[in-house]
Amino acid sequence: MKVYIAAATGFCYGVNRAVSTCERLLKNGITVYTNGELVHNEEVVEGLKKMGLKTLKDIESDLDPELSSSTFAIRAHGISPLLEKSLRKSFGRVVDLTCPIVYNVFRLAERLEKKGYLIVIYGRKGHAEVEAICGRLKNYLLIEPSYDIKKVYSDILKKAEEKVAIISQTTMNHQEFMNFSSQIKNIDLKVEVFDTICSVTVKREEEAKKLAEKCEAVIVVGGKQSSNTKKLACIVQNSGKKAFHIRKPEELPLLSEFESVGVISGTSTPFVQIQRILDYIETKYEGEVIHNG
Ligand code: SF4
Repeated sequence: MKVYIAAATGFCYGVNRAVSTCERLLKNGITVYTNGELVHNEEVVEGLKKMGLKTLKDIESDLDPELSSSTFAIRAHGISPLLEKSLRKSFGRVVDLTCPIVYNVFRLAERLEKKGYLIVIYGRKGHAEVEAICGRLKNYLLIEPSYDIKKVYSDILKKAEEKVAIISQTTMNHQEFMNFSSQIKNIDLKVEVFDTICSVTVKREEEAKKLAEKCEAVIVVGGKQSSNTKKLACIVQNSGKKAFHIRKPEELPLLSEFESVGVISGTSTPFVQIQRILDYIETKYEGEVIHNG
């Protein structure tokens, strides 16, 4: 069996920075808190918890004076300025692990709003990054992927005076964002589109397509809650090939019917998790690992 592994696998830069910084702080005996999962990967989160990482369930009500000797780590996709302000009051130290790519989107949105644009954000309600963007703006509209275009037009016309700037949550599907923004361009206002989708995720989507063309099935490694991992599995399925979204070798079905399989991962999957799967296939199916790119 031939096993084609995607050129880009393992953590992306932003996730790697967040995880390694937290590990370093915990190793130094510092008490570290985050809000929710630091990364959408059950194995990594479990490992960090074992090292002592604590989670605030409700960031607004769980703040108490006891926390003044602890450190709060802002996750890679950021936090709203209002929450950051109360965290800075409660915690002895706040370490900002917002990915620089996400931070640039915050700055861009603020700059455009100051210039008089209505900011149209293509993203998912409740996502940390979207909340962080919205928390920085006054004049914005959040549009989710299940939008009704007529309603979007009327909402924009109600809110925008003359200029509209379209941005996206960094982890949205690139093609879908492009389709969305091309429809908004038809509106009778000045519309500018800023492609703020992270190129790391775009590259992985392209690789998922290529692997699906080349292989009979593709193994997508990553957490069940990771939206970018789920998106890769969808891309493979939409290409008409089998996608196996798994976290560990034991979750794999029998692969003997395939002569070629691809392996790709989401941005929150550490390389060690992929290596375990490659070792398993090599041993069980005498797989020959080929690097794709
Ligand atoms: S996916 Fe992109 S934007 Fe998100 S943390 Fe990774 S590098 Fe940063």
